[in-house]
Amino acid sequence: MQNHLIQQARGHIRAAGHLVAFTGAGISTESGIPDFRGPQGLWKRYQPIQYREFLRDPEARREYWRRKVELYPGIRDARPNAGHLALASLFAAGVLKTVITQNIDGLHQKAGLPAERVIELHGSEAHIVCVGCGRCFPWEQVLAGFDGDCPRCDACGGWLKPATISFGQPMPEEETRRAFAEAAAADLLLVVGSSLQVYPAASIPGETRRAGGRVVIVNNEPTAQDEIADLVLRGQAGEILQRIEGGTQ
Ligand code: NAD
Repeated sequence: MQNHLIQQARGHIRAAGHLVAFTGAGISTESGIPDFRGPQGLWKRYQPIQYREFLRDPEARREYWRRKVELYPGIRDARPNAGHLALASLFAAGVLKTVITQNIDGLHQKAGLPAERVIELHGSEAHIVCVGCGRCFPWEQVLAGFDGDCPRCDACGGWLKPATISFGQPMPEEETRRAFAEAAAADLLLVVGSSLQVYPAASIPGETRRAGGRVVIVNNEPTAQDEIADLVLRGQAGEILQRIEGGTQ
């Protein structure tokens, strides 16, 4: 990564009054959690399961849970990497105001960001929820009784599912409202590790632009929205964010 691009990013950050970060699966690959669309992405192995298939097809539910049980320990045990830690340092210094994330892994909070400053647009893998009555269950309790079939709520009999948003599932209203409000309030949006292809989340950079803010993109391959960015930094998120953060204070 060329030094003058890092310098430009630092300059934008120093000039910003309301810096917001918008992160995707790419910020967590250096913590060992695979993304969806990157070169080693999960979609090279799996087809996504739509929410309506989960609701109506017992085989889809079994396959959904098979994948979740396989991937959960990697998420539970993952540690924040240099990218998460650099954002946490920018927050601690009062520079970064909010993180809007598409991630479900909780790594921004593990890095030290307060939960109320992390807007989880696609939910969280931290616990299980009943799609019928909304009751929450800890993973360990559900795993203890897991027999390969989709677990059911012991209160209402509804299907249990990690508290994440599947394709075709409604977005959480409050988080979506807050995310778009933060995107509009940002005079600089730092987009990290997102292919910017999953809507409505991918409308976030456009919202910042419409409100007159700048957009800086950090990603290891071209994204669907590089042309609307004021600056694009191509490379590994951990190294780039660490270098940017190191020179902003
Ligand atoms: P995506 O998979 O569509 O895109 C990730 C992008 O990050 C890709 O362009 C990839 O090349 C890039 N990337 C990968 N590793 C990188 C690195 N070390 N440095 C810089 N760039 C890197 O992910 P998305 O845009 O977040 O959207 C897909 C959906 O994936 C989201 O809805 C999210 O909920 C879900 N998801 C989340 C996790 C997680 O919580 N860690 C993991 C997989 C998928």
